[in-house]
Amino acid sequence: MKKSKKIGILGGGQLAKMLCDSAKHMGYTTVILDPNPDSCGRLSSTEHLVQKYVDKVSLKKICKETDVITYEFENIPSEVIRYLKENGGNIPQGEKPLFLSQHRIREKSAVSKIGVRTADFEKVVNLETAKSALKILGAPCILKTCSGGYDGKGQWKILEIKDLECVRWRNIEYILEKMVDFEMEVSCLVVRGTNGDVVTFPIGENEHKNGILNKTIVPARVSEEIQNKVRELSEKIVKKLDIYGPLGIEYFIKNENIYFNEMAPRPHNSAHYTMDACNYSQFDIHLLAILGESLPEIKLITPVVMLNVMGEDSKKIEKIKLDEETKLHIYGKTEWKKDRKMGHINYCGQNIEGLIKRANSF
Ligand code: AMP
Repeated sequence: MKKSKKIGILGGGQLAKMLCDSAKHMGYTTVILDPNPDSCGRLSSTEHLVQKYVDKVSLKKICKETDVITYEFENIPSEVIRYLKENGGNIPQGEKPLFLSQHRIREKSAVSKIGVRTADFEKVVNLETAKSALKILGAPCILKTCSGGYDGKGQWKILEIKDLECVRWRNIEYILEKMVDFEMEVSCLVVRGTNGDVVTFPIGENEHKNGILNKTIVPARVSEEIQNKVRELSEKIVKKLDIYGPLGIEYFIKNENIYFNEMAPRPHNSAHYTMDACNYSQFDIHLLAILGESLPEIKLITPVVMLNVMGEDSKKIEKIKLDEETKLHIYGKTEWKKDRKMGHINYCGQNIEGLIKRANSF
């Protein structure tokens, strides 16, 4: 019989909550570290340390008491990972995926170096360098802060020089990217176990609203060839960049070409569909991967449309009609605020177009 294990998780948001739920099913206990006493991970973790991520007492306790440590968000300071390692913590994903994904230029340079296509890009630090970069790339472009942006924040569409002049430049690094006139955005959750096993989940087709993921449709409505290519590229990225654990990768599809957009070394919102539509969820596989277990083949059991439930949906959610094909997951956040992810619904069934209609009429 397998011995019970204790998992330490840096961050206590919804991803930590769902990871703790999976751990519970496997008979494992969890401790989360998150300074917010109301963070939703508290509902499912065995223990919640309400302290800053750099709190040494908490970090030492996690090192001492857990079998393995992981993270649920990518902005963990690298000194925290180093401190955990120095104190005997077992953190198999390490710093590398954080180091890459915390900076858009580092990330895009690393993947293009291994032969994965990205949008053309230039590093920019102020109006002058931005003007030169725009000349090289040609409009339209998109300007992004290199670090700290999420859900479309810290981004500006650049159609002409005037748009650059409207940016309130700060003393930070930016990336100017050529706009890809894509037909579809897709994502792939790939997981590499510490034993070397690699699995990919089915490709999701993503639709955003106001820069925030609204729905994921699975299988993505692209050819099988494209789906296979996306899976191959994702495997190549984790293997060549030597990344372990889960990695959510977003791509643009244009004329059969696949452009890498960004990656996150954690469970991914666009793979929440796996909770009801696959034989194993992304959270189950994340745990197996960091524990060095062999990774099972992933199967899609049913087509699915995942819809994010946002703070502004509080009235709608009261009226939702659930049935055996409509699975609701609510994260337990204390305040329903606009643009805040509060939960998601997985609409499962055979007819994708029907599922999309149901999601649209939520
Ligand atoms: P990101 O934060 O990089 O995921 O960007 C947020 C959204 O902006 C993406 O989901 C795309 O819809 C859009 N976007 C980002 N980069 C580009 C690009 N190079 N070309 C076209 N659209 C983009």
